[in-house]
Amino acid sequence: MADHTSQKQIVSQVQIVGGGLAGLSLAAALGTAGIKTLLIDMEPEPSNTPFEEAKDNRTTALIQNSINLLNACGAWSGCEDYATALTVMRIVNLPRGAQKYPNSTDFDSREIENSPFGFNVPNAVLRRILFDRLATLSSVTHLTSTKMDKMEQTPDGYQLLLSNGESATATLTVGADGKNSACRKAVGIKSMSWPYPQTAITCYIEHSKPHQNVSTETHYPAGPFTLVPMMGKRSSIVWVEDTRLAKKYLALDDAEFAQELKNKINGRLGTIKLFGKRGGFPISAMLSDSFYTKDLALIAEAAHALPPIAAQGLNLSLRDVAVLAELLIDQNKAGKPLNDIELLKEYDRARRFDVVSRLAAADGLNRFASNDSAILHKVRDIGLSAVRNFSPLRHLMMKSGMTSPLGTPSLMSGKEIERS
Ligand SMILES: Cc1cc2nc3c(=O)[nH]c(=O)nc-3n(C[C@H](O)[C@H](O)[C@H](O)COP(=O)(O)OP(=O)(O)OC[C@H]3O[C@@H](n4cnc5c(N)ncnc54)[C@H](O)[C@@H]3O)c2cc1C
Repeated sequence: MADHTSQKQIVSQVQIVGGGLAGLSLAAALGTAGIKTLLIDMEPEPSNTPFEEAKDNRTTALIQNSINLLNACGAWSGCEDYATALTVMRIVNLPRGAQKYPNSTDFDSREIENSPFGFNVPNAVLRRILFDRLATLSSVTHLTSTKMDKMEQTPDGYQLLLSNGESATATLTVGADGKNSACRKAVGIKSMSWPYPQTAITCYIEHSKPHQNVSTETHYPAGPFTLVPMMGKRSSIVWVEDTRLAKKYLALDDAEFAQELKNKINGRLGTIKLFGKRGGFPISAMLSDSFYTKDLALIAEAAHALPPIAAQGLNLSLRDVAVLAELLIDQNKAGKPLNDIELLKEYDRARRFDVVSRLAAADGLNRFASNDSAILHKVRDIGLSAVRNFSPLRHLMMKSGMTSPLGTPSLMSGKEIERS
C-alpha cells in the first residue's frame, strides 16, 4: 500500500469511489450544480480510439428518462451521433413441437408514444462523453488509474487512502464501485447475491439487411439471445448462454464464432460479419440490505445488480443518480450538510421499492425465459399470444418498461440543473 504520511489531502463536499457509467454520471450532475466533487476510478482514461476497439464492447439501451438526465448533466450532446432508435421489441419463443400460435410478438412503441422506447448507445461512447464533460467542470476532480485502498471513519466523514499516495476526505462518500463494492464491505453493509449458471457473450456485427430499428430477443433454453440495433447496418449482441458452453464459444476463432452466431441469427439480417472485440460477463444478481449508512450512500451496482434481461440495469442505476443528485443539490442550495442522515434515509426510501420490484421482475423473467420445460414453454406461448391479441395489456407492459410506478425524478423529466 502507498505511504500516505507526507502526501496531499484532497478535501471535497462529495467523494465518489468508482467511475463506471453511474459514478461518472453522478459526478457530472453534482459538478454541473457546482458541488465540489472528487471521482476516483481504478480504470485508466479511455483512449480516443474508435468505440469498436474499446475494452467494453457493450451497448446500453437508454430509455428517455435516462437520456433526460444525461442531457441535464451536459453529457447527451455527442452521444446522439452514435445513438440508434429502438422502435420495436420483438420477442421470439422458439418453436417446440407443434406450435399453436405464431412464435413472435412485436411491441411497437408507435402504439403508445410518438417516440421510440429508447436509444441504443455504445458504452464506450457514453464513457468518453462523460469523461469530456467532467473535464469542463471546475468543481470536479477526476482521478483515473487510482484505487481506493482503505476507508477510515473520522468525525467529519470518511478518509480515503488512495493508491497514488494521496488521501481524501469529504462530508459524504458515495460507493459507485460496482458489484464487489469495497465501500459496501468496508462500512459493513450486508448484501445477498445469487449467481446464475449463465454468462452473457457480447459482440458487434455488421449485416447486409437493415435492422429497421427492431430489437429481437429470442428465447433459447439457456437464456435469451438479443440483437440490438446500432448505427447503420450494425447490431450489438447479448447472447446469454450456459457458462460452460459460453467459455467454449468465447475460445473459438473468429470464423468458428461467426458460424455459431449465424446459426443463432438464422438469416434474419442477411450475411453477417463480426467487428470489434468479444466479451463474456458472468451473470449474477445482488441486493444490499441498505443503500446508506452514516456519511455514505451506495448507488448502482454497488447497491444492486440485475441479470441483463430487458435492459434495465443502468437505467435503474441512473434513477439512483437522479434521486441522490436532486436531494444533494437542494440540500446544498439550502446550505445544509450533505451527510444529513434524514437525507440519506429519504434516498433509501425513494429507491428501495423501485429496485426490489425491478430485481424481482428481472430474476423471475430470467428463470421463466431460460429453461427447457415444456409446460413453461406452453405458458410463454399462451402469455405472448394474450399480449399479441389484447392491446391494453401490451400497452401496459410497454409503459411499465419505460417508467417507474413511483413517478419520475425531476432531473429525468427535463428539469435543468442550476448552478448553486
Ligand atoms: C451484457 C450486459 C448487457 C447490459 N445491457 C444493459 C442495457 O442495455 N441497459 C441497461 O440499462 N443496463 C445494461 N446492463 C447493465 C449495465 O451495464 C450495468 O448496470 C452498468 O454498467 C454498471 O455500472 P456501474 O457504474 O454501477 O458499475 P461498474 O461499471 O462496475 O463500475 C464500477 C467502477 O468502479 C471502479 N472501482 C471498483 N473498485 C474500486 C476501488 N476500490 N477504487 C477505485 N475504483 C474502483 C471499477 O474500476 C469500475 O470502473 C448490461 C449489463 C451486462 C453485463
